[in-house]
Amino acid sequence: MTSTSPTNTVYLVTGANRGLGLGLVKALLARPQATVIATARNDETAAGLRQDLSQTTTPTPVANGSRAEVVVLDLSTAPTPEQVLAAIPLTLVDRVDVLISNAGRMVPMLPIADAAAPDLRAAFETNAIAPLALFQALRPRLSTPSRQDQAPPKVIMVSSSVGCITQQEAPGGAYGASKAALNWITRALHNENESAGLVAVALHPGWVRTRAGEHAASEWGFEGELPETVEGSVRGMLEVIDGATRENVSGNLTPPGTTKPD
Ligand code: NDP
Repeated sequence: MTSTSPTNTVYLVTGANRGLGLGLVKALLARPQATVIATARNDETAAGLRQDLSQTTTPTPVANGSRAEVVVLDLSTAPTPEQVLAAIPLTLVDRVDVLISNAGRMVPMLPIADAAAPDLRAAFETNAIAPLALFQALRPRLSTPSRQDQAPPKVIMVSSSVGCITQQEAPGGAYGASKAALNWITRALHNENESAGLVAVALHPGWVRTRAGEHAASEWGFEGELPETVEGSVRGMLEVIDGATRENVSGNLTPPGTTKPD
């Protein structure tokens, strides 16, 4: 199966009003004939995002034929299919080629023995259950390729190396546990949807200069500049997303930059 064509593709990016989500939307809009559904948590952040995109000339201008549609989607609790349909009606897009669940909730990164139940519930809801619920709601719109040369539908979960079970380098607390659950869900979606040609990938974006990155840095007492810029991280993620196929994310093979599923 070929990798996703960067033209004439419908993308959906959650948590698009700032940080990596905003960087992804801007980079995708620079691709020819891209439709980008960009979600923000509420009316206020959606308005800010519209304003931001209307002035977009960096890193590159919007390509000919490309457009963004900003919609409100609060992921504090996992959305029902009805809520997703109301936010993203079929009249807006009747298909989604690449679903990028990027919105993520930070909670205190205490040792797991000290993690509070409300933080665990909040982190699991936004970081693991909501991405699954969004996939479930949009599943009918993820196109199953009928020909070998057609791009497969892709579900990209923006996860974290903090969610890796075998290499725990710093306390991840409820946040790390929720990302580990997301990794498991992603691998299961990939394995269980072979007949639909689905490619599901959990990505670690690097340690990036965003609000979430700065939050982790301050919790871990890291001093100095975070290593990754939004633009650099987005470039790397899009390389992995474009190149991901059923074959190279199956078994133990994960594309460079992705979190390990175990
Ligand atoms: P930011 O804090 O800049 O952005 C987080 C985004 O998620 C915002 O758009 C935010 O919206 C949205 N969001 C959070 N909670 C909700 C919610 N309940 N409903 C809807 N949207 C919500 O961080 P990043 O851009 O860095 O984070 C993007 C992803 O990357 C996250 O999944 C994060 O876990 C992951 N990640 C980031 C790393 C880094 O170093 N930056 C490292 C590893 C993983 P709002 O503005 O309304 O809060």
